[in-house]
Amino acid sequence: MKYKAYNSFNFNEIPRIRNVSESLRKEILISSRVLPFKTNNYVTDFLIDWSKVPDDPIFLLNFPLKDMLQPAHFREAARMVEGHYTEKQTVEILKKIYSELNPHPAAQQHNVPVLDGKKLNGMQHKYRETVLIFPKQGQTCHAYCTFCFRWPQFMGISPLKFRTDEATLLASYIKKNPAVTDVLFTGGDPMVMHASILRGYIDALLSADIPNLQTIRIGTKALAYWPFRFLTDPDSDELLHLFERIVKRGINLAIMSHFSHPAELQTTHVAEAIRKIRSTGAQIRTQSPVLKHINDDPDVWAEMWRLQVNHNCIPYYMFIARDTGAQHYFAVPLVKAWEIFRKAYQNVSGVCRTVRGPSMSCIPGKVQVLGVSEVTINGKKEKLFVMRMLQGRNPNWVARPFFAKYNPDAIWIDQLKPAFGEEKFFFEDELEQMFKEELSEASFGDFE
Ligand SMILES: *Cc1c(COP(=O)(O)O)cnc(C)c1O
Ligand code: SF4
Repeated sequence: MKYKAYNSFNFNEIPRIRNVSESLRKEILISSRVLPFKTNNYVTDFLIDWSKVPDDPIFLLNFPLKDMLQPAHFREAARMVEGHYTEKQTVEILKKIYSELNPHPAAQQHNVPVLDGKKLNGMQHKYRETVLIFPKQGQTCHAYCTFCFRWPQFMGISPLKFRTDEATLLASYIKKNPAVTDVLFTGGDPMVMHASILRGYIDALLSADIPNLQTIRIGTKALAYWPFRFLTDPDSDELLHLFERIVKRGINLAIMSHFSHPAELQTTHVAEAIRKIRSTGAQIRTQSPVLKHINDDPDVWAEMWRLQVNHNCIPYYMFIARDTGAQHYFAVPLVKAWEIFRKAYQNVSGVCRTVRGPSMSCIPGKVQVLGVSEVTINGKKEKLFVMRMLQGRNPNWVARPFFAKYNPDAIWIDQLKPAFGEEKFFFEDELEQMFKEELSEASFGDFE
């Protein structure tokens, strides 16, 4: 299949879009003035069940809708489409809207690594073992997920674009930091890069002969949204050959694959693409946020994990969607996310239980909601959340249970208070030390 991208400019060429009501089409075009919109012919021809639109989960994952925006933002977008604003005014209004959607991106800057006094922009080093790289050519995707928090990267007006092409600096940095064992290519989607570009990065790593480099991970949505990346694209074979070369060097190659719904695992194309990747010796690990309207149902997760294991993939993370961008539409309360996780986990065999979650990626680390419990202290019952970190900015924070007051409405850690009348969570003083003045603007509930 030949890749064809759809966006608001060629929207009317989408084959089935005429089946959708005029008002819904208008709604999509208005919403796409604010939320990034891009899909492709595999998604529209093979994944979306058009008879179920507008409730079809894959449709909702690809097409921005009115309810994904705050009403005032949608009204502004509608005025833009109606031609009320000059181009300059439009840019100003969009900037204002974005600042209201994603208020504290600043903390990510804290993770930028330094080599010989020079900041390595386009990389992040937050957890001791793993360095993230945002290759310059991989900062777009085959289709954009409507819930994605990386959307400022796609809209072209954010100063906070992580990207780099300094592959040799990356290699030197890892060599100089022997605690680093993993490199994670992320984006956007690094699988939009031509194989020869990815090879440039990989060769820089391999030729540096880094004894501490054990795992190369590539985060991607390509298996779900464009499996032809591994089948029939002009450079598919070159890409698979590159994978094979990494594995043959004794390095673990993990394709961190984003699947949000079982429908993404049910075409013959995805099955074949997975088989091809696995035949190179690479592993596939899977992850997704839990999302209202899409997969907020334990049966959906249990089915997804089973299909993944049947295909020889390893379930890895269930994330909690944060309330940023369109996420008021997708957010699931912590207690509900945990119930979904627990019920799904109870209904699959041990081979699926490699998955961990539900987990929040916030400033201190990856915080897992282990569950809700109740204790009696001095004859008084207290309901609480039991939490722990799966990853920590300080590795000593990992795997220490801690407790938060029960709050059925909380959807993120910043809405939680320590249990037992404590003032702070155990990590907070140390975190404040790490961040000093920065945390006066951001809270530890923020990303990264
Ligand atoms: C999730 C994540 C990693 C990888 O963590 P693992 O638990 O090893 O999968 C690395 N860096 C950042 C910033 C992350 O969010
Ligand atoms: S593929 Fe990943 S980075 Fe791209 S829009 Fe979806 S979630 Fe965001």
